[in-house]
Amino acid sequence: MPLTPRARLRPLSLVLLGTALVATGCGSGDDGGAGGGDADLTVVAGFYPLEYATQRVAGDTGAVEVVGLTSPGVDPHDLELTPRQVGTVQSADLVVLSGGMQAALDDAATSQAAEHTLDVNDVVDLASTGDVEHGGEDHGDHAEDDHAGKDDHEGHDHGGVDPHFWLDPDRYSAAVGAIADELAGLDPDHAEDYRANATAFQEELAALDEELAAGLADCRIDTVVTTHTAFGYLTDRYGLHQVGITGVSPDSEPSPARMAEITHVVQDAGVDTIYSEVLLGGDLAQVIADETGTEVLVLDPVEGITDASAGSDYLEVMRSNLEALRQGQDCS
Ligand SMILES: [Zn+2]
Repeated sequence: MPLTPRARLRPLSLVLLGTALVATGCGSGDDGGAGGGDADLTVVAGFYPLEYATQRVAGDTGAVEVVGLTSPGVDPHDLELTPRQVGTVQSADLVVLSGGMQAALDDAATSQAAEHTLDVNDVVDLASTGDVEHGGEDHGDHAEDDHAGKDDHEGHDHGGVDPHFWLDPDRYSAAVGAIADELAGLDPDHAEDYRANATAFQEELAALDEELAAGLADCRIDTVVTTHTAFGYLTDRYGLHQVGITGVSPDSEPSPARMAEITHVVQDAGVDTIYSEVLLGGDLAQVIADETGTEVLVLDPVEGITDASAGSDYLEVMRSNLEALRQGQDCS
């Protein structure tokens, strides 16, 4: 359901504001302590990696309720918000999003939560997608600061910026630090906990980064053919080269010409593995694989965790991605 008309949101938000005031009676004052059931802060996170990072920073303080807007198994690029979720965005203490990733949330945050939104893109160094997938050398200077993100047309215009920063543990780590800063500012009583939890998680990310660097240091095949173009930060960081079948949003249908082009890339680069995704199904990857006599492995963009995921959290799925890449790229 479209959320665009403002006139529609306004009465709703007044009602919600009213009930929120009645329900919480203005939370300052009573520090319910850990485990009292009701958290001090409600933080809304746009999609899984933001949700997981916020949970890790909150740790076991019991002070933060983290609300993920994107259900497991739903493509976060396609997020649509129910009126109730818009209300949650409005009444939250903090909304954590990545501008350009989820247009519906960008809109709701701009109109309902402008004064309590953290856009992690403010601290994460996002790169232009350029035309990575068209075989040009894209290493070089990216136009970093063209923040076209604010006025997304409908559909999935990423303003030419690749939103998948969490697939690079170093960029993800920067977002974790920003989330900790925000929580510390909102809840000074637990500031030290938030910073300590963030540091511990950042150390785990640094360890993951080292494993990826070591595991992908010596690969026979450096072209990584993926379904949706989500892995540019990861491949750039570890000396590989991504060719995506669809764009940065998975729902753009590739043309027959594009499919033919990919087939040629696969043959020319000696690729013998095409990567599919859990959430997308393997269809496109399978078509290319059948055409080229290659095999299909799963590479997970960690946009959500489901029973089908190869791990129960970000770190586990990233390690299974490492294994898939080591096998598919023939790394020693
Ligand atoms: Zn994506």
